[in-house]
Amino acid sequence: MTTSASETIESAFLRQQPVKMLIGGQWVEAASGKTFETLNPATGKVLAHVAEGDAEDINRAVAAARKAFESGPWPKMTPSQRGRLLWRVAELIEEHADELAMLETLDNGKPIKYSKASDVPLTADHFRYFAGWATKIEGETIPVSIPNMLTYTLREPLGVVGQIIPWNFPMQMASWKLAPALAAGNTVILKPAEQTPLTALRIGELICEAGFPDGVVNIVPGYGHTAGAALAAHLDVDKIAFTGSTEVGKKILQASAGNLKKITLELGGKSPNIIFPDADLKWAVRGALTAIYFNSGQICTAGSRLFVHQSIYDETISQMAEAAAAMKVGEGVDPATEMGPVITQEQLDRVSGYIETGRREGATARAGGERVGGDLADGFFLRPTVLDQVTDEMTVAREEIFGPVVVALPFEEIEEVAARANRSIYGLAAGVWTSDIKKAHKMVSLLKSGVVWVNTYNQFDAAAPFGGYRQSGYGREMGHAVLDAYTQIKTAWINLR
Ligand code: NAP
Ligand code: MG
Repeated sequence: MTTSASETIESAFLRQQPVKMLIGGQWVEAASGKTFETLNPATGKVLAHVAEGDAEDINRAVAAARKAFESGPWPKMTPSQRGRLLWRVAELIEEHADELAMLETLDNGKPIKYSKASDVPLTADHFRYFAGWATKIEGETIPVSIPNMLTYTLREPLGVVGQIIPWNFPMQMASWKLAPALAAGNTVILKPAEQTPLTALRIGELICEAGFPDGVVNIVPGYGHTAGAALAAHLDVDKIAFTGSTEVGKKILQASAGNLKKITLELGGKSPNIIFPDADLKWAVRGALTAIYFNSGQICTAGSRLFVHQSIYDETISQMAEAAAAMKVGEGVDPATEMGPVITQEQLDRVSGYIETGRREGATARAGGERVGGDLADGFFLRPTVLDQVTDEMTVAREEIFGPVVVALPFEEIEEVAARANRSIYGLAAGVWTSDIKKAHKMVSLLKSGVVWVNTYNQFDAAAPFGGYRQSGYGREMGHAVLDAYTQIKTAWINLR
């Protein structure tokens, strides 16, 4: 099935060319007049031309965000009014669910059934959840040991917040960033990934329609090394929230030193997914498939190191390989597609390079290992890949591949597998499959990662904190934990004598 973008979406948004950026409540072209192309990864064809923001546009956006934070309607709004605006965004996202799902699928490549069932509803949920928090950000009264003092705290917004997001979940990442920052009363400049700017910009239109005051939300598409770097280094930005690679996360941290802006980082992972012999094998194999092939493996929590107990190893890997080979790989717009393309030619080359390195170091592909040809040859498609004969020291077992490639590793003992699972620079997520409740809790305590899923994988909810140990990042998103990252505490001392 080959379907061109224009046949699959009737969106006034895509008919405007170039797609403009949002600064100070206005939709504008880049100061330089430059544009860049965003492609449909299923066809390799240009989907849209987008205004290419760089340092000058970032300066304009930061000035607009500063003005909106200091004066105008936003700082005077009540928490209830802020909550209502966020709630309205959630409603508008739901009203435009089909359009947003299709835009996401075209720009990112992911199967439409997942854009519809997961990306759109979870994005709306995120705005709705944080709409509720706007009225619940409370300080405390402190029982200090100094007589006649009333001492209390206020939780105040940080100010102007820069937010830089990746291409793997463009719409959800925009909501993870925008909703809590706005609930807490900040103003923002969001830089979407250059590969997938469209849904964030469309949500920008919905944010304007909801009635947010000008300059509260600014969206500047552009390249990381220009627009992103300018935002990270800007001296009038109070905080950067970043999701992406550990390598760029370190650059953000360095760039923040100029004004010691606050930083939160959601970075990479190399997550262990561990199957014990007492697991329900049918569910464990299904879970392991979802853990690695959901979103073509382009998810920071991907269960990319599959540890399987020696006693069930051969059977499990055979089942995995068979199921991986049977997966329907295709264009995201086809409702039957289970796995879409990877995001770019560059990513396809990078992931294929890892498979080659794996083979050179002694691994064998039990499934996949190659590109998809035929009708799909113009897109960036790879077969779901299972690598066997792998050791912990191999490159493919240590580095984040960020593609549909799982490495399988046998183990024997619980302490042994926990120690091996923890032996990584990352510590984002882990999965455990067992029917023994004691073993489940023991593994939760032994695994050094921000999330542990037991008999499930890749579960996310706006209410549940998410973030990494070690080089997987700083800080937490979601739940009330994220509000710490978007507020600062002021302590007031009132002498009552
Ligand atoms: P990336 O380079 O870290 O990109 C993430 C975001 O940072 C994008 O908006 C990017 O802009 C921007 N950026 C790049 N360089 C920057 C700089 N010097 N200063 C400020 N912002 C900058 O990630 P990627 O290239 O998309 O993917 C590479 C690898 O990152 C993946 O293979 C994977 O290992 C990891 N990754 C992790 C996650 C995650 O959720 N943890 C998500 C995506 C990728 P551009 O769009 O212009 O590059
Ligand atoms: Mg694209």
